[in-house]
Amino acid sequence: MTDVWSEALEGLQPRLGAQTFDLWLRPLALRQVERERVHITAPNRFMKEWFETHYLNVVRDEIRARTSRNYDIQVEVHEVEEPAPAPALLAPTGAISVTDLTATAASPTSTATAPRHSFPPPLLSPRYRFDTFIKGAGNELAASATWAAAHEPGRRFNPLFIYGGVGLGKTHLLHALGHHILRERPHLRIALQSSERFMNEFISAVRSNSFDEFRRRYREDCDVLLIDDIQFIAGRDRTMDEFFHVFNALYEAGKQIVVTADRIPADMAGMEERLTSRLNWGLVTDIKPPDFETRAAIIRQKAEEERIDLDPRIASHIATLVRTNVRELEGALVRVTTFAALKGLTITEEFVNQILGEHSPPSRDAVITIEAVQKAVAAHFSVRIADLKGPRRHKGIARPRMIAMYLCRQLTSASFPELGLRFGGKDHSTVISACKRIEALQSEEPEVGAALSAIRAQLAVHEPN
Ligand code: ADP
Ligand code: MG
Repeated sequence: MTDVWSEALEGLQPRLGAQTFDLWLRPLALRQVERERVHITAPNRFMKEWFETHYLNVVRDEIRARTSRNYDIQVEVHEVEEPAPAPALLAPTGAISVTDLTATAASPTSTATAPRHSFPPPLLSPRYRFDTFIKGAGNELAASATWAAAHEPGRRFNPLFIYGGVGLGKTHLLHALGHHILRERPHLRIALQSSERFMNEFISAVRSNSFDEFRRRYREDCDVLLIDDIQFIAGRDRTMDEFFHVFNALYEAGKQIVVTADRIPADMAGMEERLTSRLNWGLVTDIKPPDFETRAAIIRQKAEEERIDLDPRIASHIATLVRTNVRELEGALVRVTTFAALKGLTITEEFVNQILGEHSPPSRDAVITIEAVQKAVAAHFSVRIADLKGPRRHKGIARPRMIAMYLCRQLTSASFPELGLRFGGKDHSTVISACKRIEALQSEEPEVGAALSAIRAQLAVHEPN
């Protein structure tokens, strides 16, 4: 007989998908079941909180369904011991490499940190910190995972891959991670580079015959690799090849790797397959444009940062007008406050409208929702919506499901992970392969093309105006 906890988890695994399950539930351990209470332990505070906000109810319901009893679930943090930092006890995966020790030994007068950096310390924007990053629905997972990676570099979420459109906070999070590690573990050497800089350094190292140094710097003398906007090296064969080797060396040594991009690796034309697959090894998460609440909170915070006395109602008003991304939002705030100061005027809603005139609210284009697509696909193939979201692999169901995923990806702004969730909690990779499959089938099987056109037409008829 297994216990209620393990039984419930086993039942949940197929529903949550392997990736979600491995990331969030597997690390939890059962400690004790006493009467109607289950005690479990989480490896850190972050995992505890994430479990409590996202999965606790699901697990409790599952237990109730299986036992008809209401169990209370108590989570406690059980920190796993850090590898000992004392030089005498250097573990093989210890953060201080052999080259550091020789360097320190050779110059006994040097301070503890100075010789360890063959990298200059990263140039971090003082404004891009965790405590200045506003969390909201669109960036919560990315922010929390980055925080966890900063807290326990190389232990979890490795590599961490964050993707999303411009101005949504990817670079901000990389810098925040840098600040955190610099403060908490100053002995770790951080490389923070845009992929373009990485490429340029690589090229000039090859040209100037200093490739050995380049290689040592990135493959050996680096503990945390932060690469911003990886998409720029797609199609650059030699740079991709070099990055591949850097990745392998650091990954094998248990070093934390965080990569950002404007899209998922599989969508980058010219990105090598073997790199794409490696970038998918850890956690892949997106950042979506902020919702209204988050935008308003960001404006209020930026105003505070700049010591601008801004009426919260004005902050909300700006948030209604500017919806695209955070960079635009910041620009809007600067324009409004600068003009107001120049003209000596108080900032009213009227004034904001005037200044941000070109940011009139976007026209209400026909919005196609995931539900609408699922409904249209289900109707077209005479299957149930529940089956589209369910696990059945029968071709009569699987085919419509893939088509629904494909159309959702094309017609809505939902990300792959989000689509996975909305199709009954499937892994984002399932959605990606469904989309690829339908892409291919369109030209191979005329019926697929015909079905797509019919459903698209159907959706257009029902488009709200
Ligand atoms: P990206 O790298 O995704 O293009 P950035 O990280 O450069 O975007 O962000 C653009 C600007 O918006 C930066 O000034 C950043 O500080 C700010 N920003 C983005 N997201 C947030 C957030 N959630 N909270 C506070 N500031 C943010
Ligand atoms: Mg950026």
